[in-house]
Amino acid sequence: MPASTPYERFTVLLTSAMDALQLTDAEQKLFQTPQHIHKKKISVTRDDGSTVELPAFRVQYNNARGPYKGGIRFHPEANEEEVKALAALMAVKTAVVDIPFGGAKGGVQFNPKEYSKKELQAVARAYVRAFGEHLGPDIDCPAPDVNTTPEIMAWMRDEFEKINNGLYAPSMITGKPLSFGGSRGRDKATARGAFFVLEELLKAENQDSDGQRVIIQGFGNAGGHMAHFLHKAGYAIVGVSDSKGGIYSEDGLDPSEIDLTKEEKGSVTAYEAKGVRTVTNEALLELPCDILIPAALDNVLNEENADRIQARYIIEVANGPTTPEADAVLGKKGIIVVPDVLANAGGVTVSYFEWSQGKSGEQWTDTQVDDELNRIMLNAFRAVHEQKLKGAPSYRMAAFLVGLGRIVETMKVRGWM
Ligand code: NAD
Repeated sequence: MPASTPYERFTVLLTSAMDALQLTDAEQKLFQTPQHIHKKKISVTRDDGSTVELPAFRVQYNNARGPYKGGIRFHPEANEEEVKALAALMAVKTAVVDIPFGGAKGGVQFNPKEYSKKELQAVARAYVRAFGEHLGPDIDCPAPDVNTTPEIMAWMRDEFEKINNGLYAPSMITGKPLSFGGSRGRDKATARGAFFVLEELLKAENQDSDGQRVIIQGFGNAGGHMAHFLHKAGYAIVGVSDSKGGIYSEDGLDPSEIDLTKEEKGSVTAYEAKGVRTVTNEALLELPCDILIPAALDNVLNEENADRIQARYIIEVANGPTTPEADAVLGKKGIIVVPDVLANAGGVTVSYFEWSQGKSGEQWTDTQVDDELNRIMLNAFRAVHEQKLKGAPSYRMAAFLVGLGRIVETMKVRGWM
């Protein structure tokens, strides 16, 4: 029977990795249990004077390797179960790229699209007041996630400094605007990291990157930047999509022209040129290509469509785009899936640079960020690849073994296991 909740799915994967690492039942239980689940109702005054109480969460999954780290999402469906799964994934992700953080996640359950800017600021500040005693540069460092922006991070930092008597604490949160303690390169970091990983994968596969046909689902921050990096490096972008639908052209698409169309007409689907046809989002995933990059939503590769996927490589820029059922089918078809915990870890890696710059007072250049990101992503890919060569059945399992192995090692040093 398919595992139903995101946390149950994570547990299935985790259990296989823990079995492979020969952890005892007691040790397994220890890692499967989040260290802290904080839940509160935060009270916010709306513009019409009424007051609402919004369910808010901060799950601190594991901090063996360093301060808890993970984004805060504002979403009507944010709930404890989802936040718990995402927190656990963050713990594995930070360990896969070997940066000194643990894993956490936060959420507020409401629809931010129905809130004014003033009200959003009130939510952001109320969240920090609610969980402030559990946050801090060396304790738990949040970041943006779905529907939370650099501006919201700035309000959160300001509130944290305010409730701590004016303490200077830029590293209490990342994803801030450049003018208020942000890092250069954060906006492109996830795509840049995924690009480095893909290039290294193709090298390991003895494949030339030139002319590889790529389909990208989602033309937002991560997918849009990815399209530019790939186009510049000689890949052929044959398909892209956004929430309104997709376009496909065997002759390849120019991301700069698509940017213009999106800006002027609101969607990639309005792009018109010879040989370009519009397709539904579902159909786009199944069209011929060498590399498929889901960069929008979770669960888009599932038991319904897995058998019809034609790509040879899937790079998971989105979080959780492949269900375990699809994973099994894709594996049987010989399709290589680079999992989210490796492929999209460039974002949290540059967040680490931001945290570190905040602590030291330094400001890195674009080149410094790019070089260091390249070094970290290549090391992570190589560690995972080595694990795969040792017999892990997939890159996903290999990444889990690397990440979990590092966490367990530290938990043992600390005497927690
Ligand atoms: P974004 O909001 O900037 O872009 C999302 C894109 O997906 C938009 O183009 C949107 O139109 C499109 N989209 C929405 N619904 C769609 C649908 N049904 N079909 C096709 N496209 C659809 O978000 P983002 O920051 O680029 O994040 C995308 C994914 O990458 C998410 O899963 C996110 O968790 C993951 N991710 C992002 C970062 C980051 O730093 N931005 C880091 C790690 C993981």
